[in-house]
Amino acid sequence: MHILVFNAGSSSLKFGVFRLDAEDGAVEVFKGSYERFRDGRSEFRFRQGDTDERGTGEIGDIDRAIEAIPAVLGRFGLTEIGAIGHRVVHGGARFSAATILDDVTVAEIDALTPLAPLHNPANLRAVRLCRRLWPDLPQVAVFDTAFHATNPPFATTYAVPRQWREAGLRRYGFHGTSHRYVAQRTAQEIGRPLSDLQIVSVHLGNGASVCAINRGQSMDSSMGMTPLEGLVMGTRSGDVDPGAFGFLSRQFGLSVEAIETALNNDSGLKGLTGSSDMRDLEDRAAKGDPDAQLAIEIFAYRARKYVGAYAAAMGGIDAVVFTGGIGENSPSMRRRICDGLDFMGLRLDHDRNQAVDLSGHAAPQIQAYGSRVRIFVTETAEQLMIARETAAALARPEPVAEPIPVAVSARHVHLTGDAVEALFGPGYRLTPDKPLRQPGQWSARERVALEGPKGRLERVAILGPLRSRTQIEVSRTDSFALGIKAPVRDSGKLEGTPTVTIVGPAGSLVTDGLIIAARHIHTNPADAARLGLEDGEYVDVRIGDHDRGLTFARTLIRVGADSFTEMHIDTDEGNAAGIGVGDGEEGEIVQGQAATVHRRAVV
Ligand code: ADP
Repeated sequence: MHILVFNAGSSSLKFGVFRLDAEDGAVEVFKGSYERFRDGRSEFRFRQGDTDERGTGEIGDIDRAIEAIPAVLGRFGLTEIGAIGHRVVHGGARFSAATILDDVTVAEIDALTPLAPLHNPANLRAVRLCRRLWPDLPQVAVFDTAFHATNPPFATTYAVPRQWREAGLRRYGFHGTSHRYVAQRTAQEIGRPLSDLQIVSVHLGNGASVCAINRGQSMDSSMGMTPLEGLVMGTRSGDVDPGAFGFLSRQFGLSVEAIETALNNDSGLKGLTGSSDMRDLEDRAAKGDPDAQLAIEIFAYRARKYVGAYAAAMGGIDAVVFTGGIGENSPSMRRRICDGLDFMGLRLDHDRNQAVDLSGHAAPQIQAYGSRVRIFVTETAEQLMIARETAAALARPEPVAEPIPVAVSARHVHLTGDAVEALFGPGYRLTPDKPLRQPGQWSARERVALEGPKGRLERVAILGPLRSRTQIEVSRTDSFALGIKAPVRDSGKLEGTPTVTIVGPAGSLVTDGLIIAARHIHTNPADAARLGLEDGEYVDVRIGDHDRGLTFARTLIRVGADSFTEMHIDTDEGNAAGIGVGDGEEGEIVQGQAATVHRRAVV
């Protein structure tokens, strides 16, 4: 099957055709574009294998360009199109995964226009036209924002009045398809699962953003509610003090629209130098142009600040990856960003940096020998990712709506043998009290206390059997009662977790392993097959249909040979859904748009 991918902007149309291949996934077989629409004409370019056709034709706008595509594809022998994937810039809080387009989802995307008035209308126009031109083909929207749906609220929330926040004013992040691709490519080169790595992805093109990818999930990115926040870009300002609005309005009498337009179209490199093209600026700067020199310094400084900030935000960094026109092609910009970061274990090899060759989808490493942090350069492949996600969205089975028991886990610890001895005395053995529903697991008669800088939690349960690592699972509220920030983690993923003091009758122990357990569903292979679930994927789960019923997004599926099928949430989540420990409430995997209820793991 072939997938036709569209990236329709307000002034250009890019499209590509990908063949789905059992071994290689999606393979690009055709690439096309229409741009520079003027006086009823535009420039086109079509590439297939060694053929590279370009010229000017009588196609005066994007709608006419889309209408011309069936004939173009026919001429290149591409008649077997099975599905269409669309890039959609803003998915708001509503869309956290690629979504099959129908009347309902199109209307929902339309409703997001106030969040992205410059981008979404152009994307939607193409969607509507394609649905008319290819009424029989399934069409899927792939959102720039979706990858960032995992950003925690402390990264996405602006400290502004509640009413504004309730209207959707928050950070969303963009370039998600690119960041996801280069992070996956980096993990592949390193030869470790993405879920083990802390990566900073630096996308420097006309639009530019940095993303912190913490163990496979986007944690933060430099773009905000719109793609205007963050780095200096070709024509966008990036970060400016919002106080500028008042100043500009009072000083020059500028309207909100005029300021927005200037920040989007006449700022960034263009605002600083008159040109938005980094190649121009590098040439001008080398000849002594002070504006170009300053612009390059600002651009690099801002990017470098975000690299450092995101290493700190994640509490570690294994790799930096550069992509986008500037990231891929400018050794001097990469060097400006990386030089002097030795203190955080990041050192560039200048020869490798100079000799980057990206042909054949290469992702060369350019760090110096002995650099703890690896540095990669690779081309981004947003259209390829859109093709892959389109195929994945269409291939997803509809999960079966069958009630799943929900267990609310109160705070508890899992201990090692050494920890038991430290807390209860040498040779001590825990006394199994009550069996849990997961076979072989029990809660012990003994209890411990947890101590942090803010307070102490008494009578905390111990769950057996013993483990090879001590793990302390608390709710977010408990973490505030202790006064320690605990990360949300899957069980067993304890690298870099904070320490807490566990107190027993015979002694106390300071140990890392303090987490808020990510909600999950235990299931076994037989139930998973019946429910249409796969190990490692995430689903949305609805609990209760009473007043306080709600949907839990991103619930991890964990298939174990003997597991009892059951969803585990913590006490905060239970309270939010109006159920308590041991209530026996049942949740149900939500039916609806397949793509929004049932999505693949990032890794
Ligand atoms: P978009 O975000 O529109 O896809 P690109 O990723 O193509 O943009 O990036 C365009 C930017 O890359 C421009 O500023 C361009 O000058 C810059 N660029 C391309 N090649 C080079 C190069 N060899 N050296 C420096 N900058 C380059």
